[in-house]
Amino acid sequence: MKNGLFLAFALLCAPTTAQVPPTDPISAHIDPTVRPQDDFFQYANGTWLKANAIPASEQENGIFKTIQDTVDAQVYRICLQAVEKRHPFGSAKQKIGDFYYTAMDSATSNREGIAPLRDDLARLKDIDSPDKLLVATAYVQLVSGSPFFSFYVGQDEKDSELNTLHIGQGGLTLPDRRYYMEDDAQNLSARQAFHTYAATLFRAMGETESDATAAATDVLTVEHALAKTSRPREDTRDPFTNYFMMSVDSLRLLTPQFYWPAFFREVGLEKVGRVVVEQPDFLQGLNDMLAQLPTATLRNYLRFHYLDGLAAYAGDSLYEASFNFYSRALRGVEQPRPRWKRAVSITNSILGDLVGQIYVDEYLPKGTKEKFVEIGNAVRQEFAIRIKNLSWMSADTKHKALDKLNAVNMKLAYPDKWKDLSRLHITRTSYLKNMMAYRKWSSQRNLDKLGQPVDRDEWHMQPQTYNAYYSPSNNEICIPGCNIIVPGFDGMPDDAVLYAIIGGTFGHEITHGFDDQGCLFDKKGNLENWWTTADKEQFDKRTQQIVRQFDEFYITDSLHINGSLTQGENIADLGGVVVALEAYKKTSEYRSGQPIHGLTPLQRFFHGYALAWMEQLRPEALQNQVKSNEHAPAKWRVNGPLANINDFYEAYSLRPADHMYRAPKDRIVIW
Ligand SMILES: [Zn+2]
Repeated sequence: MKNGLFLAFALLCAPTTAQVPPTDPISAHIDPTVRPQDDFFQYANGTWLKANAIPASEQENGIFKTIQDTVDAQVYRICLQAVEKRHPFGSAKQKIGDFYYTAMDSATSNREGIAPLRDDLARLKDIDSPDKLLVATAYVQLVSGSPFFSFYVGQDEKDSELNTLHIGQGGLTLPDRRYYMEDDAQNLSARQAFHTYAATLFRAMGETESDATAAATDVLTVEHALAKTSRPREDTRDPFTNYFMMSVDSLRLLTPQFYWPAFFREVGLEKVGRVVVEQPDFLQGLNDMLAQLPTATLRNYLRFHYLDGLAAYAGDSLYEASFNFYSRALRGVEQPRPRWKRAVSITNSILGDLVGQIYVDEYLPKGTKEKFVEIGNAVRQEFAIRIKNLSWMSADTKHKALDKLNAVNMKLAYPDKWKDLSRLHITRTSYLKNMMAYRKWSSQRNLDKLGQPVDRDEWHMQPQTYNAYYSPSNNEICIPGCNIIVPGFDGMPDDAVLYAIIGGTFGHEITHGFDDQGCLFDKKGNLENWWTTADKEQFDKRTQQIVRQFDEFYITDSLHINGSLTQGENIADLGGVVVALEAYKKTSEYRSGQPIHGLTPLQRFFHGYALAWMEQLRPEALQNQVKSNEHAPAKWRVNGPLANINDFYEAYSLRPADHMYRAPKDRIVIW
């Protein structure tokens, strides 16, 4: 994920002349109290981080929030223009305007509260048999949350042209199984906050204080059992050991307590022949739990999940309860964002493809796509050279790697074809009802894909999403348009910064096609190991080094980065920065050797890379990330890879006594 370059649209179109050179943002961020050789992240970003504390309504501050603020301001204008007058029903502006209107209409939302959910809640409270539990589970999966397990239609890992039904572990409310399985103070307090939140929801459903408390305990009992039978997150990374194609009959034998044919019927799937079960051991554990726990306990778990998925849209008091748990307790955020910001953010996430079309027309700097194509091609070429020169890969595998690299599809800036939202009906009547309409539409849209060929042109992010991805099943990378934004620059930054940030993103995403997971998917995206055993052994030797390197980074006295869980992302970061640097070395700016704002081109490049990760998190959010996210926290995404790169040692003359120093034999080279 990451980055970009901010180009005020007007400036790009009509460059101004004879201006006083603005302060260089890169130099302005430097913290002279820290030595670059000891902590480059802090040295490069420290002054900005100290001057920009985390606002009370946020879990973080840094480049992500800065760019998000820019995009939010643009989306805000899109919402305001849409809401100010009535548009033809079904048009993009009608949907955006009406959704935004209901999200802002706190009076109606507070008056309504959970009234639109009453019938559903009454039905859920009446569950008194496993059959009714199953029917209700199907319903909740469609309209609200993902109780008991995860369930979706997605690309078949072994036949990437096909969409198949996937069932996997899930059903947890806390961010990871570790929150349930480990009993340190942070996890105990997170579980306490969860209990308090669940009890609040049960009181809102009309339960007495003591019944609400008991029902909340039921929810935790069920989730503890689910957590216990869930695989640790790092064990869900291997696609071979998380893929078991089976018939519905075999699935029934695995979980006799849960009658899947009835479940499929309830969600509207008539002809399910085969299913990809991601973690059969989890389903066995689920089956045992369903056999052991009373229906009343399971019912309470389901009631909670139904309301939990919709609570944040059901009036201020439930929003507050949801905020207190998800944002305050789990991320350390002190106060909610203003209502307009929340409304903008939810409108953007629900109607992203409609907002995106206007965003591209009105706000995306012209020439973004062309710039992405240019940098993307430079990085691809450089990566090809790196592959050819690798000492550890066999000639035959190199041949296949180059073939796969050549086949990588690049989805850049914005899609050529937008999602069809014509069947999603949004009105100005009720925020909660709009949310439910969206959930149903979205579930239906997903289930409709079953049995259909994969649409290779579909985008899984929007142009206004500040992030990027590589999809192994499509062998494609997607870099949304707003990655062009680089905060602090009034015009196009120098190539050092551009290549470090945008080139680094390309490099990061492209190496995913060739890492411990990428080596298991061929150029068409089918799950098939295309490496020889010897190649894999060589690669594993190197990745074990990176696992060890990151295992040694401690966040607190007792919590260190999970080197196994984050290895794929750490390998991509290291590969990404190396490839981007090699591409940068071909530019005339680098070859001229001229200093840029007092920095050598090499130093400037590393500053650009540090800017890509300029971010600080609240302690709770940091804990949350380390336990539940495959990306290491920002600081280590900078200092980790740079400590392996010889050019960095040259740029800053590192010596053995320096904190970031690694002996030459310990510096990890993968790509
Ligand atoms: Zn990645």
